Amino acid sequence: MPFTAFGEPEDPLSYYSSTSNITDDQSLTIIKEKTTSPTATTPSVELSAQPVDNGDQPEVGGKSTADTSAPQISSPSTDNTTQPQADLEQPIVKEVEAEAEIEVETQEEDTPHPEIVTICDEIGNKLGSVSSSDCLDAAFDKPRFYSNKHRPLLEKHFYASPELVNAPRILFLGGIHGDEYSSVSLSFKWLKILEQSHNGVYDWHFMPLTNPDGLLQKKSTRVNANNVDLNRNFIPSETSINPIKHWQTYAKKRARYYPGTKPLSEPETQAIHKLIHEFKPDIIVSVHAPHGILDYDGGITPPQKLGPLRLRQLGTYPGSLGNYGWFVKQTPVMTIELKHAGIMPSKSDINLMWTDLIHWIKLRTEGDGTLIARKTSDQ
Ligand SMILES: [Zn+2]
Repeated sequence: MPFTAFGEPEDPLSYYSSTSNITDDQSLTIIKEKTTSPTATTPSVELSAQPVDNGDQPEVGGKSTADTSAPQISSPSTDNTTQPQADLEQPIVKEVEAEAEIEVETQEEDTPHPEIVTICDEIGNKLGSVSSSDCLDAAFDKPRFYSNKHRPLLEKHFYASPELVNAPRILFLGGIHGDEYSSVSLSFKWLKILEQSHNGVYDWHFMPLTNPDGLLQKKSTRVNANNVDLNRNFIPSETSINPIKHWQTYAKKRARYYPGTKPLSEPETQAIHKLIHEFKPDIIVSVHAPHGILDYDGGITPPQKLGPLRLRQLGTYPGSLGNYGWFVKQTPVMTIELKHAGIMPSKSDINLMWTDLIHWIKLRTEGDGTLIARKTSDQ
């Protein structure tokens, strides 16, 4: 298969000043205006901003779900008249214990993990459009995976409602190349939209910064701390050229494309590999820059555009996520190539790309159902 050569990414320029006028509040306002008459059962609700009062709880089922999981404080009183005095105290003790447990759990959830506090400070210091508090507000899950330099690979899982067993699963990966700042910033913008609007129709897993060591150093690099291009370090398809040979010949041994000594030699790619195995996504969405196109590897009809980005399928490199995702794991990979690595898209384009992505997922799941056809046929 032909390997189309990417050009060298542009140097990130004027990132800090150019992004400061984009606020999340503005983004959400636009999202609200775009949505008409959302209902609780259609995926379009993912587009609307709703009051966040349920934390991560799916909205479908609403109050009845919350009621059944709450401590049964009032139930013992119904038997009061027939119970001996000694028995009456038992439920009260249990109530106190239950409340104490809930308080502890709430406290744990509200207090960010110290490793998350540290990396959020680093991200806030590095990126113009993601503050430390933006990062903390995302309330990332407890760290499980780490980079070479032991930074956590931030994860946030937005669960689908339990009754929606075939809810589409979307794995979202940002910042696999550490010098593509806009990829990370866009991931945080979309994380925030999802936090405000998630209603349990889809199952999302976000990893917005997969190469923290590449980004969070004085001069950010495409490669990780081990000088490996993570997007060449995945398992290549059987028909691919060996990644090392490909690097030696086609990539002319340029350091920024070094694929590592062997596939999955890096903790960051091992984490993504494990995540794909565990989460079994119906589609992987990965964000890069600066080629200004939409790329796609998969067996179903791709979107023709995502906001301002038009579809242009470039083929894959051995060891890249697209090559691994589709040709090894049979999972479609949508690669969003933003136009600039150091300048954020406009807030309207950020929202347009998101709505186009949701629209495509909706058509491919509710429409012809092709996005989850693979999973269904496997059962
Ligand atoms: Zn990239």
